[in-house]
Amino acid sequence: MRRHIIAANWKMNKTLANVREFLIKFVKWKNNTEMQVDIIICPPSIYLMEASTLLYNTDVKLSAQNIYFENAGAFTGEISAPMLKSIGCYYSIIGHSERRAYFHETDADVNKKLKALLENGMNAILCLGETLHQRENGETKNVVQAQLSADLYGIESRFFDNIIIAYEPIWAIGTGKTATPEDAEDVQKFIRQWIANKYNQTVANNLRILYGGSINHNNIAELISQPDIDGGLIGGASLDKNSFIKIVEIANRIIGGK
Ligand code: PEP
Repeated sequence: MRRHIIAANWKMNKTLANVREFLIKFVKWKNNTEMQVDIIICPPSIYLMEASTLLYNTDVKLSAQNIYFENAGAFTGEISAPMLKSIGCYYSIIGHSERRAYFHETDADVNKKLKALLENGMNAILCLGETLHQRENGETKNVVQAQLSADLYGIESRFFDNIIIAYEPIWAIGTGKTATPEDAEDVQKFIRQWIANKYNQTVANNLRILYGGSINHNNIAELISQPDIDGGLIGGASLDKNSFIKIVEIANRIIGGK
């Protein structure tokens, strides 16, 4: 039985005061709620230390939005896996489409970042997905397959407890256009099958695959009701605490009732 995840990707948003206000209120709410899902919060790196303190002794997981693949050295401006671990942050998003598009990250970079996280005993939220052009040309599964193959190159099955995959069609991110639950399910089922073929059925059955792309409180229920959608990676709708709490409440209700 896979436990669902609701993850908040705040991207480059919020001030320190906003972060404090959100997390203090969220933790208070969460402590009075029976949680049926796992929560991961991904603040900008400058707030990770503060968030780590505020989330200390809670079961809310903290994640970076990116890492560099070397452990230490002359890489001005970068943050490494051991640094994150040292402040109690054991997760990082890697391969987000915004990093692939604006910072020219390649699948080879993503693969090195994944290895850096896993070798340091950390967890990855590996993002992948197709552009609108690729979808319209019927290339979605080929693109996803190529990303899986390159991003997971050299990764052994024993590491899969520490990997979460987030299928995020690029045309659905921050656009208000969500993939239909059936379209998202179709690709996510394909991803699970690909993992089963490449590794084995147990690895595939245990792998949590999230959907991301304009999730909000109106569409979360239908999306996570699909058999291969094990939660959501949420950008815009995770910024406001009330909106995020509403999404978690709905997820709790749906998953709790399953
Ligand atoms: C994301 O940042 O991963 C994302 C899915 O953003 P949004 O929910 O705003 O589309």
